[in-house]
Amino acid sequence: MTIQTVGVVGVGQMGSGIVEVCARAGLNVVAREINQELLDRGQNYLKKSFGKGVERGKLTQAEADAALSRITYTLHLADFARCDLVIEAATENMQLKKTLFTELDMICKSGAILASNTSSLSITEIASATQRPDAVVGLHFFNPVPVMPLIEIVRGLLTSEETLEEVRQLGPLFNKQLVFAKDNPGFIVNLLLVPYLFDAVRALENGVATKEDIDTAIKLGLNHPMGPFTLMDFVGLDTCLFIGDAMYNEFKDARYAAPPLLRRMVTAGLFGRKSGRGFYTY
Ligand code: NAD
Repeated sequence: MTIQTVGVVGVGQMGSGIVEVCARAGLNVVAREINQELLDRGQNYLKKSFGKGVERGKLTQAEADAALSRITYTLHLADFARCDLVIEAATENMQLKKTLFTELDMICKSGAILASNTSSLSITEIASATQRPDAVVGLHFFNPVPVMPLIEIVRGLLTSEETLEEVRQLGPLFNKQLVFAKDNPGFIVNLLLVPYLFDAVRALENGVATKEDIDTAIKLGLNHPMGPFTLMDFVGLDTCLFIGDAMYNEFKDARYAAPPLLRRMVTAGLFGRKSGRGFYTY
């Protein structure tokens, strides 16, 4: 295994989970946020999450302490210079990701792999912001990262076999199943999920049923662990909207067009669980 030190860009919902999984797997982790407040929030969240893991018997206190000691926190991308792999988990916005990748490309050592946790954006386009498109790959984790057993590996047009071989080793290391997708917006999971979620919002807009009854119908009628509105609140309504917009932008297919209600809710700051209110109040 040549990956020993991992940098994680963003310690939000997904970034914090990725930091946790990497540290628990024995890797050194550099976790970076854009300001001290978010960095403190991410650090506290991680401490709590490790605490819960110990309470539930998932790991011992000694293992949790060892994992936490492998994480360093920073506000500076420059601290990624020694990383073998950097995983970007910033907001779903192409311009933001391209700017980050251009900076990472200048900072990171030659041979380091640059990965994005994007849900829908083109890995080939993100890679075009670097001088090392062969070493850029999509690593799409699922929420919550420590629990969900899947990673979608996304191959950009120029991603090399060597890069794929390196990241393939993360499957057994993280105890997660890998699936491979080409650089097609939404990859596998969101390609199928997004039209379903948006159809649920359209059903609500059309007065087909209440959100509670739609959630109950899907849970009990299809045996899903949660209904579409609970799931959107969990993912983040802002993230659902950004993913839909990226996919609509590519396919120009009405199935991926965000329903007006979703857009209004995001405009109003109703982002779901992370903001305290979405389709439900938390
Ligand atoms: P989030 O809102 O919880 O976190 C966003 C992160 O982006 C924060 O750490 C924030 O500090 C960082 N950020 C914002 N502006 C930045 C900037 N200018 N420079 C650098 N960092 C900046 O979002 P999230 O749910 O963690 O999503 C992050 C990524 O993961 C997105 O690409 C999203 O599509 C993807 N993703 C999300 C889910 C999900 O269920 N939420 C699942 C898989 C993948």
